[in-house]
Parts: sequence; structure tokens; C-alpha cells
Amino acid sequence: MTHQAIMLLMEHIQLWMWVHTDIILASKTLSVDETDVKNSHHLENEGLKRCLNELKDHQVSIHTLATDRHPMVNKTMREQYRQINHEFDIWHRAKSLRKKLSAASKKHKDMQQWEKCVVNHFWWCCETCEGDVTQLLERWQSVLRHIVDVHEWRCATKFFKCAHGEQEPKALLEAGGDAHKALQSIVMEKKFQKDMKLATAFCHTGNLEGFHSMLLKYMPQEVHLQPRRNHCKRTSCSLGQ
Ligand SMILES: [Zn+2]
Repeated sequence: MTHQAIMLLMEHIQLWMWVHTDIILASKTLSVDETDVKNSHHLENEGLKRCLNELKDHQVSIHTLATDRHPMVNKTMREQYRQINHEFDIWHRAKSLRKKLSAASKKHKDMQQWEKCVVNHFWWCCETCEGDVTQLLERWQSVLRHIVDVHEWRCATKFFKCAHGEQEPKALLEAGGDAHKALQSIVMEKKFQKDMKLATAFCHTGNLEGFHSMLLKYMPQEVHLQPRRNHCKRTSCSLGQ
């Protein structure tokens, strides 16, 4: 069987969920004491390898795995698991985008009313790009035109006009003004655009985050549990999902 899986990485807990059914596929709780890793920064990568090996032992092959953009995990996936399509989780990308927009809006009040729209646009681009990174990038960058009242353009290869119909009037940004430039620096940020290449499969950890919130209800972070007890609690939550 081949699965599309998402992974929620935290310092010491890993949860893997099968995207189409929301079933928890694998789960690990690690601590530095019980592993050979140098420090807690390496735990996520260690958990990744252990989960992949465990699934392999059970003849489960992973087609696509979505993770947060942890550099060490990224390197491991690139070098040791090239057969698996590695994607970045859209939920975390959107969260990071929201933070940047919120910070910029504090300086440029005109941007405030666009914050939510730009984040929604990001989700829409990832969902509708049909696995095509050029489509994704051109859709994403089109927000810079839409926001200054330009809805059709020629200088593109696949996406030439906005997909919306008639819209409620909304205060536009001045083309080339400070707020527009600030948004441009966020939209066109090199790192963000580079990450788009790993965001075309529309994988997100929204449901897994929900499960994690439920988990915290039974395992509050303030309460330290011994590894065995921690494992039992987590497993019982996974079974009862
Ligand atoms: Zn438009």
C-alpha cells in the first residue's frame, strides 16, 4: 500500500497521519536520554527515521510525506529518502505568512484589511495549482496585481487573469506605495518562493494539529510523564481518535 502522510514534528513527539482517512499511522515520543542524539535539536530527525523504519517493517510504503521545514529533516529526506515525495506543510507556511503580514500591517495600516485575504489566497493557490509549481508561483504573485486593481496581464506563462468574478469594492493599495512594497517583499521573498516547490501537493497538518490539541487535554505539557506512561497515554488517544 502507498500512502500520503503528514507528520507533525515537535521537540519530542512525532505523529504521522494518513491524509485521506485521518488515521494515525505512526507515533513516537523520544527523549535525549533514550537515544544517541547530541541534543534535543536532533530528536525530530531521529523520530523521522524511526517512524519510516517502523512503517517499512510493516510493509507500508510512503508516497508523499509533508513536514514542517526543519532543515535537518529536509536534508535527511533529500539525501536518504529520495523515493518519497517530500512536501512542506501548508498549515505552518500559512501561519508563518500570517505573522509576517501582521508585523508589516503594524507599520502600514492600509495592509491590515488585506491580511486575511492574502493568507486565504495562499491556501487557494496551493489547492488549485494542480501540482504545477509554475501555476502555483504565478497564482501567488498575482496578488500583487489584484491588490492594485489589475486583474488581467500578459507577462505570465500559465496564469493570465484573476479567477474571481465581481467583487465587493475594497480599498486598494497604491501601486508602488510603501504598503505595496512591503507586501511585495513578503510575497516575493526568495526563501518563501523556493519553499513553494515543495507545496504543490496541498498537504496540511490542520487535522493533525486538532488531534494534538486533544492530546494535550489528556497530556498537559506542564505535567512531566515518564516515557512509558507518556507512550501509553498517547497510544490510547491515537486508538480513540
Ligand atoms: Zn483580481
